[in-house]
Amino acid sequence: MNKTNSNYYASNFNFELIPPPNTLDKQIYSKPPNFNSLFSQDLLSLQDILEMNNINLENYKNGKAEIIYSEEPYFGNRNIYLDELIDYLNLREPYNKENYKKFQYINYNKKNNILFSSNIESGNLRMVIKHSDNEYDLITRPETNSLKAYQWFYFIVKPNEMNFSFQNSTIKFNIINLYKKTIIFNDQIHVLCHYNNYWTRDTSDIFYYQNNFPITNDILNNNNSNTYQKDNTLNFGGLNTNLNTNNNINNQNFFHTLTFSFDFKKIETPIKYVYFSYCYPYPYSKLINFISSLNKFTNYLRYEEIGKTLNGNLLHMLVITNFGDSFDILAKKPSIILTSRVHPGESNTSYVVQGLIEYLLSNNNVAYKLRKNFIFKIIPMLNPDGVIRGNYRMNLLGKDLNRMWTEPDIKTCPTVYYSHQMIQKTLNSRDIYLFCDFHGHSNKQNYFLYSCGENNNENDLALIHLFNKDSIYFDKKACYNKISPQKMSTARAVMKNKYGIELSFCLESSLCSFKLPNGSIYPFNIDSYKKIGKDFISILSKFCNSKIYNSIINVVNLDIKDNKKGKKGKKKNKKNNNIILPPIIHHKPYYSVSVSNPK
Ligand SMILES: [Zn+2]
Repeated sequence: MNKTNSNYYASNFNFELIPPPNTLDKQIYSKPPNFNSLFSQDLLSLQDILEMNNINLENYKNGKAEIIYSEEPYFGNRNIYLDELIDYLNLREPYNKENYKKFQYINYNKKNNILFSSNIESGNLRMVIKHSDNEYDLITRPETNSLKAYQWFYFIVKPNEMNFSFQNSTIKFNIINLYKKTIIFNDQIHVLCHYNNYWTRDTSDIFYYQNNFPITNDILNNNNSNTYQKDNTLNFGGLNTNLNTNNNINNQNFFHTLTFSFDFKKIETPIKYVYFSYCYPYPYSKLINFISSLNKFTNYLRYEEIGKTLNGNLLHMLVITNFGDSFDILAKKPSIILTSRVHPGESNTSYVVQGLIEYLLSNNNVAYKLRKNFIFKIIPMLNPDGVIRGNYRMNLLGKDLNRMWTEPDIKTCPTVYYSHQMIQKTLNSRDIYLFCDFHGHSNKQNYFLYSCGENNNENDLALIHLFNKDSIYFDKKACYNKISPQKMSTARAVMKNKYGIELSFCLESSLCSFKLPNGSIYPFNIDSYKKIGKDFISILSKFCNSKIYNSIINVVNLDIKDNKKGKKGKKKNKKNNNIILPPIIHHKPYYSVSVSNPK
């Protein structure tokens, strides 16, 4: 269990890292954030978009925009023209394992008022273009071996003490190569920044909108060839006459821009770094530190390395149960398998899973009962390479690992392969009671479950009922129980269809915010993410308690009948206490006697 941090990067990640900042979270909980300055994308008029882009476009057209930071010596220290930038956005060769270069983090002009870096684990800044001392365009690195940049960003800015003016200290950042048509920043949330030792949401003037840089078919098809579709690109000279719709110009797709501002007056001297991030970062090194901190729980916890990633990083698994039980008892315990972080940019889920693990290892009676009755096998990070690299979805080969579960190939997606192997091995010796894969959701609020059941599967409904009753962050309406054909190779579908694990779920928690029943909206913070993990464990415990389970199944079945009969039937049924439940075939609750926690 004693892991050293020194060697987990493969040698081709050959850069010195600034340690990630601590995760103290300075959020004011009593007061909702001010969303006045935000509006949703579809409220943007064409004029809005043009106005927002106007200054930048002029600078690009005239070659007045200057590249001040690049991880590759591609343009050198000089001004940039629009055609070059379009070329750059569409044409750069995708990375692969062979062609990683030693990154050259260059701030070309040391006289600049601020300096950039993404020389940090999970950092992904590729280039910065300066318009003025108060406005910078940023280009993030696309997913490894892919041309798409979804939405993750994480980088560092440091005011250059020699040249920084605190009189004129609000700086606007435009991330200009984002791919998704909608993201969370539309109307919900402020960009996270970290300074003076805290994470806050002190950024302002946040807008997300389609910009005027075209996406070529190569990028849309994720085709890695670097041919430039000259014919498909937009003539910027015709900008004013051609833009007739908000989202589409001659069926051409465009990148999106996320704009936000930050006032550097707030930072304490001596000036340190300011970190900006899409979500609270949770890098691989943090996971290793967390696992190392669990040394003392030897009675409940075993640690395993179940495989290696493409880049040679370790795939960690925690096994949690009451190891003091006799061999016979241990052998009979069913397993609960939990996985997370298959999508690297969904860093919120790591806090959910950390909260879950901490609660499961605690002295609480609920945790004790679960450890007594189950063996938990938890893989907290399925895609460490992608996390280190700052990807949002993919592994190092540009593959979405949550579409690889049907027949995972050890050469292209080893972590899924090894996880599969572990699950098969588990099934050879014991039942798997429940499987849950934890994800982050970029557009919805709160958290919710995706199951694979048919309509009215009473186990699903009972679980959802419990979450809805017990967890304020849960949104029953966002739950979803179907698997579309494209998702047949996701973890939850394969666990259900291939291995017959009836309780197979995906828990999606918003990367953004939660809405309370009274309508007020709050951003999630680290504590609330951890609370989701804790709630998951205590709700699971109730679900497994036959008394509670049976009472809920009663309610759930009444609901099902109500839905079928409509309002008329509802009144009638509520009075009918003699309803006969259909037999529950799968997964009876595993304990019914209350067990108390030893002192
Ligand atoms: Zn995901």
